[in-house]
Amino acid sequence: MNESTPTQLQPEMPPTRWGDPAHAAPLPEGVRDLVGLVFSLGDTPAREDVQVPASHLAPELVDLLRAAIGDDHVVLDDATRRLRTRGKSTPDLLRQRSGDLADAPDVVVRPGSHDDVQAILDIAQEHRIAVVPFGGGTAVTGGLVAQRDGFAGIVSLDLGRMRSLLALDPVSSTATLGPGLRGPEAEALLAEHGLMLGHFPQSFEFATIGGFAATRSSGQSSAGYGRFDAMVVGLRAATPKGEVRLGGTSPSNASGPDLRELFLGSEGAFGVITEVTVRVRPLPEVKEYEGWQWPSFEAGAAAMRALAQGDLLPTVLRLSDENETAINLARPDAIGGEGAGGCLMITGYEGTPSATAAKKAAVTEALAALGGTPLGTEPGEAWAAGRFDAPYLRDALLDVGVLVETLETVTFWSNRDRLYGAVKAALEGALGEGTMVLCHISHVYATGCSLYFTIAAAGGDQPLERWLEAKRAANDAIVASGASITHHHAVGTDHKGWLTPEIGDVGVDILRAVKRELDPAGILNPGVLIP
Ligand SMILES: Cc1cc2nc3c(=O)[nH]c(=O)nc-3n(C[C@H](O)[C@H](O)[C@H](O)COP(=O)(O)OP(=O)(O)OC[C@H]3O[C@@H](n4cnc5c(N)ncnc54)[C@H](O)[C@@H]3O)c2cc1C
Repeated sequence: MNESTPTQLQPEMPPTRWGDPAHAAPLPEGVRDLVGLVFSLGDTPAREDVQVPASHLAPELVDLLRAAIGDDHVVLDDATRRLRTRGKSTPDLLRQRSGDLADAPDVVVRPGSHDDVQAILDIAQEHRIAVVPFGGGTAVTGGLVAQRDGFAGIVSLDLGRMRSLLALDPVSSTATLGPGLRGPEAEALLAEHGLMLGHFPQSFEFATIGGFAATRSSGQSSAGYGRFDAMVVGLRAATPKGEVRLGGTSPSNASGPDLRELFLGSEGAFGVITEVTVRVRPLPEVKEYEGWQWPSFEAGAAAMRALAQGDLLPTVLRLSDENETAINLARPDAIGGEGAGGCLMITGYEGTPSATAAKKAAVTEALAALGGTPLGTEPGEAWAAGRFDAPYLRDALLDVGVLVETLETVTFWSNRDRLYGAVKAALEGALGEGTMVLCHISHVYATGCSLYFTIAAAGGDQPLERWLEAKRAANDAIVASGASITHHHAVGTDHKGWLTPEIGDVGVDILRAVKRELDPAGILNPGVLIP
């Protein structure tokens, strides 16, 4: 098979907002009125008169980068540097909106191959230049905010040119993908061969294959297709120490500890992932999504546990708590409408007609026996149609001064209720009366589940400071509850202060030792991941 590359370039996200500008829309009038009943609304447009700090990188170092990968691929203009500043968390957007570009990189480099990446790392190591790998820029935990002190400058290493389907082994069901392919591009290239990956996080439209691997991302169809790290068969990375190829010889093995795991979730701190080999599967012939109503979050969660422990998982399985069910955030057109009440569960079935029919029949029987009420396909189809829309709604709410943000965590089933109560109380306590805290179970395992919280609160004069305080309180509550600081958003800079209780001092020493070995000058994403 020859390499294939998408022919169309996807749009850039605006620096102050999420997504495709063509899809952005203000709050629908009716929703604005309703939201205004709860929060006092203002008009908080992003500042346009912003200044990008001057590039600090010495001209001779810029020339070295140009000589290594070509003049056209080393970019210093303000607009490009602004687009590569931070990620897309609400704090990132609020900082961009207020004109704070202190974390702008000095230069953006666009390598076209593994060898280009290696050449950039060699220069960066020799001249102590910090390197921040940049995939889709959808990070929400500060993974794109490198520490500047002690470095000659910061290079944003934009992987956007490395966007090919490099190899396909249909017999073994594996595909090797370039790290810069965005979700839809990777799926479109695979679809030409009747295949799919099946990784659909809410950031699917803009996040990349390398980013999914570097953050151990998990998608909305994880019940059926698994998390991204579980799809990775092998990878190639460039490190300051040299090239690493891992996992390319077998589906699994007993050749010592699995070193792939060192790069999955390494957030650019150990190396730059330049190729990812993934397990692929046939495109589904059938897709069906349904809704189920549960009298309580507790009852719905118990049903999810029964499915997971009975090896009876559909492709999509998620459960909103009472608040999230009532608000129906994913459907701006339905906010404030007459909901079904209780807690809404979405189930989805994808595959061949016979396999989906059999799975659906078995799941339906189990859920009915556990006390669920079937709501038919309408809620499921509505969820599927709007599954990537919520981030656009966040922008519309930020525009009118409402603070909106999400966070996630994961624990064992026996600890779910305690964790849920503790995080909710922490967020409500920090953000005060009138705050809406919504939650859904987003991913399930036989042993536990992840909880995904969304908050909406009055932004006030200092929305950023208000959120940072609430986030600290939530992180403390997560750690005190004995849960994990992150299920799929990764550590970045925002969570690293809470990582040590989870992995212990020796765990931190192991991370530091790996970093020292692979990146002795510490140029790779300094300040990210490692406490
Ligand atoms: C609205 C929204 C919804 C989201 N929904 C989900 C969701 O449903 N599930 C989920 O898992 N996450 C979700 N996220 C988080 C985010 O999309 C993921 O973390 C994603 O995996 C990051 O991919 P990216 O290509 O955008 O990487 P970036 O944001 O560009 O980078 C993320 C981190 O990985 C590093 N990195 C990127 N590429 C490479 C590479 N090739 N080699 C080494 N390091 C690299 C970066 O330096 C950075 O530290 C969401 C984010 C937003 C804003």
